[in-house]
Amino acid sequence: MLKTFPKGGVHPPETKLSANEAIQVLPIPDSVTIPIAQHIGAPSTPVVKKGDKILVGQLLAKSSGFVSANIHSSVSGTVQKIDNVPDSSGYKRQSVIIKVEGDDWDENIDRSKEVKDDISLSKEEIIKKIFDSGIVGLGGATFPSHVKLSIPKGKTAEILIINGVECEPYLTSDHRLMLERSEELIVGTKILMKALGVGKAIIGIENNKPDAIEKLNKVNDNSSISIEALKVQYPQGGEKQLIKALTNREVPSGGLPIDVGAVVHNVGTALAVYEAIQKNKPLFERIVTLTGKSVSKPANYLVRIGTPISAIIERSGGLPEDTGKVINGGPMMGKAVNFLDAPVTKGTSGITIMPDEESHRGIIKDCIRCARCTQVCPIGLEPYLLMTLTEKSLFERLEKNDVMDCIECGSCSYTCPSDRPLLDYIRLGKVTVSKIIRARRQQ
Ligand code: SF4
Ligand code: SF4
Repeated sequence: MLKTFPKGGVHPPETKLSANEAIQVLPIPDSVTIPIAQHIGAPSTPVVKKGDKILVGQLLAKSSGFVSANIHSSVSGTVQKIDNVPDSSGYKRQSVIIKVEGDDWDENIDRSKEVKDDISLSKEEIIKKIFDSGIVGLGGATFPSHVKLSIPKGKTAEILIINGVECEPYLTSDHRLMLERSEELIVGTKILMKALGVGKAIIGIENNKPDAIEKLNKVNDNSSISIEALKVQYPQGGEKQLIKALTNREVPSGGLPIDVGAVVHNVGTALAVYEAIQKNKPLFERIVTLTGKSVSKPANYLVRIGTPISAIIERSGGLPEDTGKVINGGPMMGKAVNFLDAPVTKGTSGITIMPDEESHRGIIKDCIRCARCTQVCPIGLEPYLLMTLTEKSLFERLEKNDVMDCIECGSCSYTCPSDRPLLDYIRLGKVTVSKIIRARRQQ
């Protein structure tokens, strides 16, 4: 029987329209907008100014703390300005805007196609290089990767888990990466194992990607790395769900994977680690899926960070006439795009365009106490209660009911027969509760 997590979950239609589309290189735009905060943690500090000539891979903004990340240029050209520019949600963020001139790379980057398997750096050098290269979690969480690799005192890493689940409907960027960059992914996994000092790694993949499972099994030459097929069940790719499914270890409420000896990295992150360590290449491009039922050419693109989202949409045939909503990510966890010229960032795994008839939410009705939201919650929370407590601003009770454990998977909203916007309210509640927790820590 295929492994899975034991509690809750849903089965939304997979709709992986771009699964058979090989990764294409998206042309470099005329100019890029590179935000200095593309990660969880403190924004980085710009180290360039207007008029500076820039190479591909050059440092633009320096990490400003332990939980922060360097930002590098994805293009060569001239810095036009440093300005506040809207991101996909419409929120203005300080960004470096570069006019593109040619495609001249930092000469230290190895641009050869050769897959280098020999890992010469020490554990400490690997972590330092990952920090220098601005690598963050590419599954969407954008947590700085060097932090996850710096194991706190008193904790021990025992197992590395590489997340190749990609359970979010529509998205296929990780699937294509596993098929097309499999050798590099295996080396990236070995590098992460060395950085953690662990003797075991598992690459977890949902069983709806048999070609990726077969390919990775074929290229894997390390008996300490196993490829595990998992049951198709959303949200199989949630860190806690994946750890439970693969190791039967349960991350405690409020805890982290390292509390049970596990460290989880996405397949995209493992590839970025490979490129940083073996090719001296900082993180300045990523694979992005552009998809939707009315999109003329659903596809997977290798995109330079800072490219406008609108440029990818144009490449796939333009915005369909019946567009109702554009989502940064997939339909379960993604967030609405309010500004189409917003840049692709390190966390952009896909853009999903929903037709008008599918993008409308139903009219919100009263809760009928059916308990379906509770049954599908993979964490065991009571989503109807969390929404009510947020509505009534009862934040102390919200915290006591473990709102911060919510992984924002959206299974509750997806299931609710009364179309209650459970996740929207829970997200709102989490923002306030996290502010309260921060303020309490500072007292
Ligand atoms: S409460 Fe959070 S974790 Fe539970 S189903 Fe809803 S979104 Fe997912
Ligand atoms: S699923 Fe909707 S209607 Fe049912 S208990 Fe939850 S919030 Fe209420």
